[in-house]
Amino acid sequence: MQISDEKKVLQLVKSSIAGKKKNKIEEKNQKPIAGADEYSQQVEQYACRIRETSNVDEIIDILDTVLGETRSLRYSNEIYSAQEQVRLAENQIELLKQELEQLREFVHYDQMTGAFNRRGLDAIYLREAARADRNENTLCAVMFDLDDFKRINDVYGHQFGDDVLIHLVKLTKKSLRPSDVVARYSGEKFVVLLPDVTLESAVWVMQRLQNSFSKKTLADMDGNPVPIVFSGGVAFRQLRESQKSLFKRADEALCQAKKSGKGRIMVAP
Ligand code: GH3
Ligand code: MG
Repeated sequence: MQISDEKKVLQLVKSSIAGKKKNKIEEKNQKPIAGADEYSQQVEQYACRIRETSNVDEIIDILDTVLGETRSLRYSNEIYSAQEQVRLAENQIELLKQELEQLREFVHYDQMTGAFNRRGLDAIYLREAARADRNENTLCAVMFDLDDFKRINDVYGHQFGDDVLIHLVKLTKKSLRPSDVVARYSGEKFVVLLPDVTLESAVWVMQRLQNSFSKKTLADMDGNPVPIVFSGGVAFRQLRESQKSLFKRADEALCQAKKSGKGRIMVAP
């Protein structure tokens, strides 16, 4: 699902749940609902909250509450005759919730490789940087980029190039710890975040990945292995260093690796 779909789903949710009026609401101390009138007022209040937010997590929470309250109507005598509508409303809310949950996944991941995308990386960086600052833990960022990838596409075709990117992410995930993160930064450039490692270990992790990437090559149409390498730049995060500054240093180290012959890992000063 693309970003334009995200807007569509949000729109769908907002128009499905929302009524016409726009009220300011009390968020706290919602009383349990008694009957249809009260239910419809509550839904209108939730609709207002949904209209006012663009935060997918918050909308999912609200839908959860609406779902719970809709279910409680099953036991209300007042709307006994409207049980079928209640059931339909429940189904619709459940469906919207599922779509939103899917959307939340899509907006943080790169569809082709399954790595985090830039948006996912931004969110994770905030979390990891805050954790590192709070506990005075280390955090390393690595920027790496396939060497001569344009030529690989030109010689073996774009589909083969895509397969290389998918393969690289698969190997990267396999060789990292579960707490490490890999993200697609742009076309054939990736970022790895390594919490709680020394600079030396971060370099070693990337060299080990290079080693496994060069051994587990993909084959061309004739079954011949196609050797492909990448260059990388590693930066050790200073206390409270911003994402922009850390990634800039990693990128500069990557540029140095490219300039000094490619296929190597360089460390940012
Ligand atoms: P360098 O070693 O300096 O990094 O050279 P390079 O050829 O890898 O870099 P360049 O920037 O000249 O070309 C990058 C190529 O990556 C061109 C672009 O078509 C290709 N590319 C970017 N994204 C994708 C993708 O999703 N799939 C495929 N197959 N190719 C991609
Ligand atoms: Mg490249």
